[in-house]
Amino acid sequence: MQVLCVPTEECGQIVCAVCGTQYKLYFERPSREDREEAIALVLQALARHHEADEGAAAHPQRPFNVPEWSGRPELSAAALLGGAPLRF
Ligand SMILES: [Zn+2]
Repeated sequence: MQVLCVPTEECGQIVCAVCGTQYKLYFERPSREDREEAIALVLQALARHHEADEGAAAHPQRPFNVPEWSGRPELSAAALLGGAPLRF
């Protein structure tokens, strides 16, 4: 299950517990169980970003996938199947 995390200024679906950065999430699959599992993975990824830096700059300043994916985020399965906007 892949998730696309897009930083947003308002009405994010998930908030970093350390710095308060908000993210909109786009899921590869729609089931609720899958989403809960994926959200837990995203929270872990956000916490890992802060291992070296407590500020908001610890996070990528652009959309990213969880788990990590080396391709372009806007072409990931989570973006395409989750209905993310084509341009962020
Ligand atoms: Zn943070």
